[in-house]
Amino acid sequence: KTFRKYLIAGNWKMNKTGSEGSDLINEINIALGKQTDVGVAVCPPFTALESCAKALEDSNVQLGAQNMHPKSEGAYTGEVSPVMLRDLFCTFVVLGHSERREYFKESDAFINEKVLAALDSSLKPILCVGETLEQREANETFAVVKEQLVGGLKGVTADAADNLVIAYEPVWAIGTGKTATPEMAQEVHKMIRDELSSLLGAGAAAKIRILYGGSMKPENASSLMDQPDIDGGLIGGAALKAKSFVELVEIAS
Ligand code: PEP
Repeated sequence: KTFRKYLIAGNWKMNKTGSEGSDLINEINIALGKQTDVGVAVCPPFTALESCAKALEDSNVQLGAQNMHPKSEGAYTGEVSPVMLRDLFCTFVVLGHSERREYFKESDAFINEKVLAALDSSLKPILCVGETLEQREANETFAVVKEQLVGGLKGVTADAADNLVIAYEPVWAIGTGKTATPEMAQEVHKMIRDELSSLLGAGAAAKIRILYGGSMKPENASSLMDQPDIDGGLIGGAALKAKSFVELVEIAS
């Protein structure tokens, strides 16, 4: 774990205009200064990326998007391409978030196209996986997460390890205030790392950061991040306020 740098990534979802976003980043920048112990990223909505990129010019905090289309350009009304995200200085892109899987019917095959396109465009995918409550109660957690991983990573090779991030987000814990216990999360993170090892080799699996997401906040973060296979967090609600977001970075350092 010592050679995996923690990553705290904020998923703002459909929150913050451009000016609200840059105000939040200014507060985060002041609080964090030039710390480099922990990787930090914010993922604003598309419409706030440009103003957020400006606010991040002198910062070590990196920028990410919440989704993208796999093609570089073309007749895809309403969509945004990897080239466009690179042009706005994005480093990361969240792919396969459970809200996109559920509300926008994204399949593993489509998410896989996006993962490959992101890597091809030098964007670092944060591939989200996780089971619903119903699936957990039916003892399908491992099978579901494994299927999402295998499907999402088809065609990905070991040399992507430095650029690939996985986020384990149990759907029942997202935005609900319910967090997986550290032991429950670790069990799945370990399974994910074992699966990465069989897909990409042990060397690659040891390098890939696996974030936990689902109601992570300053009160529960340290026991989660103490687990051997939890390398940081994908943070929703607690990323919308500088105070809680900065505290999470401090807990990770
Ligand atoms: C998320 O949606 O990525 C998330 C983790 O949300 P929250 O922290 O609000 O549960």
